[in-house]
Amino acid sequence: MTLPGAPFLAYRGQDLFMDDLSLNDLAREHGTPLYVYSRRAMLAALAPYQKALQGRPHLVCFAVKSNSNLAVLQTFARAGCGFDIVSGGELERVLAAGGDAGKVVFSGVGKSRREMKQGLEAGVRCFNVESTAELEVLSEVATQIGRTARVSLRVNPDVDAGTHPYISTGLKGNKFGVAHEVAVATYQRAAQLPGIEVVGIDCHIGSQITEIAPYLDALDRVLDLVEAIEATGVTLHHLDLGGGLGITYTDETPPAADVLIAQLLAKIDARGHGHREIVFEPGRSLVGNAGVLLTEVMFLKPGEQKNFCVVDAAMNDLMRPALYEAFMGIVNTRRREGATEVWDVVGPVCESGDWLGRDRQLSVQPGDVLAVLSAGAYGMTMASNYNTRGRAAEVMVDGSQAWVIREREVPADLFKHEHLLPN
Ligand SMILES: *Cc1c(COP(=O)(O)O)cnc(C)c1O
Repeated sequence: MTLPGAPFLAYRGQDLFMDDLSLNDLAREHGTPLYVYSRRAMLAALAPYQKALQGRPHLVCFAVKSNSNLAVLQTFARAGCGFDIVSGGELERVLAAGGDAGKVVFSGVGKSRREMKQGLEAGVRCFNVESTAELEVLSEVATQIGRTARVSLRVNPDVDAGTHPYISTGLKGNKFGVAHEVAVATYQRAAQLPGIEVVGIDCHIGSQITEIAPYLDALDRVLDLVEAIEATGVTLHHLDLGGGLGITYTDETPPAADVLIAQLLAKIDARGHGHREIVFEPGRSLVGNAGVLLTEVMFLKPGEQKNFCVVDAAMNDLMRPALYEAFMGIVNTRRREGATEVWDVVGPVCESGDWLGRDRQLSVQPGDVLAVLSAGAYGMTMASNYNTRGRAAEVMVDGSQAWVIREREVPADLFKHEHLLPN
C-alpha cells in the first residue's frame, strides 16, 4: 500500500519512517501528540510549481495559514517563495522567518486599518482587495502615512470548484471577492483613488480542488475581465490565480501542479496574455502530505455498537475531521501481525464531535503510536487550547536529522495572560 506522503513516508520492515527516521522513535523521544514534517517533502511539492513557471516572470506565494511554523516559512523563503498572508500576525511571522515583505501578497476579506498600516510600512508587494469599502479605507490609510498601496482586486469568478461548501470560495453566494459584474467599475474607482496603484488581478476559487476544469473556467472569466478592464485604460501587470490545488487524503486523484499549470499557461498564451507575471498562492498542496500527527493509544473501549480507540490527540490538535467531517488516513507506526478490528479513533475532549477517524480497520494495542496522515496543512494552524490542552510540539526532519521547531505548550503557558480579580 502506498501512503499519501510517499516516498517521504513509507514502511521499512514493520516501522513507519518519515525520511530516514522512525516515527515511533520520534514519538518516544519527543512525546505525543506530535506533528512531524519532512522538509524534503515540502521542497519536492514546490518543485513542479517552480519548474512549470520557469522562464517567465512568476512568484509562488506559500499560503501561510496552511502551516505557519517559522521553520516551515523559512524553508519556503530560502527556496525563493513569496507568501500569501491573511493577517498582520502572519506578516510578523513571515518577517521573523526571514521572508521578504516585497514578495508578500496580503489577502483577506476583513483587514483592519492597523493591518493595512503594518503592511504598507513593511512594504508588501500587493494587497488583494475584496470590496470597494476596503479600497476606500486602504486609500485613506495609505494617504495618511504618505505611502502607496499596490493593489489587486480579488474577483469572484462565480465558478463551482466542486469542493466542500465551507472551503469553496468562488461562488456568488459566499463572502469572498468582488462580484464579476461590478469588477470593471471597481477597478475604475481604484484607479482614481489617491494612495492606490493598481497592479494586478486575482482570484481564489476554493480549496482541495481535484480537477483542472474549474481552474480553466475561472481563468477564462478572469481573462474576460482583464480585457474589459484594460479597455477602460487601467493596466494590469500580474495575474494571481490563487491556491486551492487538492491533495490525496484517501483516493482523490488531483492533477500534478505542473500539469495544471501547463494547461493554464497554454490558455493564457493562446489568449495573448503571455507577457503577464503569474502568481500562485498554494498552501495545502505544498505541505499537506509533508506532515503527520503522531498520537498514542491510551485505552481501548470495545462496545456492543462501536469500538472506541481513545488516543491522546483530539479535535483541539487536529480540527479537520470535527469541522468538515474530513477523512484523514490513520495507520499504526509499528505494524502488528494480529487481526484487525474496526475502531472509531477518538480523543479525550468532552464533545461527541471529537473524533479523528471513524470505522477504521486497525490492529492496535494501548501504547501503540498511530500516525494521522496528510496532517501538514490546516493541522497545527487550526489547533486550539480547548479543555486547557497545550498545543502539540512540532518536529522537522530532513534525511536522518530532526529538529524541534516548536515546543509543546504547558498549562502555565495557557493562562499566563490571565488575571485574578482584586479582593
Ligand atoms: C486559503 C487560501 C489560499 C491557500 O489555499 P490552499 O487550498 O491551501 O492551497 C490561497 N489564497 C487565499 C486567498 C486563501 O484564502
